[in-house]
Amino acid sequence: MKAELCQFCLRSGILCSKCRAKLERGEVTRLDLEIARLLVSIEDKYPLLQDVYFHGAVEADNILAILVRRGDANKILSYGGKIIRFLEDKTGKSIRILEYNTNERKFLEDLFSPLSILTINKIWLPDGTVETRVILKGRKKSSLNVNAMREIAKRVRGITLRVEFAD
Ligand SMILES: [Zn+2]
Repeated sequence: MKAELCQFCLRSGILCSKCRAKLERGEVTRLDLEIARLLVSIEDKYPLLQDVYFHGAVEADNILAILVRRGDANKILSYGGKIIRFLEDKTGKSIRILEYNTNERKFLEDLFSPLSILTINKIWLPDGTVETRVILKGRKKSSLNVNAMREIAKRVRGITLRVEFAD
């Protein structure tokens, strides 16, 4: 697996001076380090992980979003979801795999999966700010943590979501 942290640090958990500086500057967080090391620990079992670029992890409420490069989400989602279950067991969180640098529609589809998106559009507010409205198919599901999803979208993509439901 590739990441902002070097292979030595990912494997040993001991930070070299370069990686420690990244941590101190906030370019890498403790959470990033923790998740990256979990992924590295199962690389031999799931070799597709060797090609995955891990960009970081973002936590909101009980949801942990794992950010990977465009095209890498499927590698983690293969193996019948075993990698997801491993991460859920280890962290106690609900896991989402998101591509941080993909197009906005794909990002939102992955964020709200398995719900399907009917419409995405922009709303310009009188104060000049823009919201991205996402209309999901179905009635509001209590299992969907809308606030956590909004926070993840804000932190990863800088977009303000307005989430609605329609049949
Ligand atoms: Zn290092």
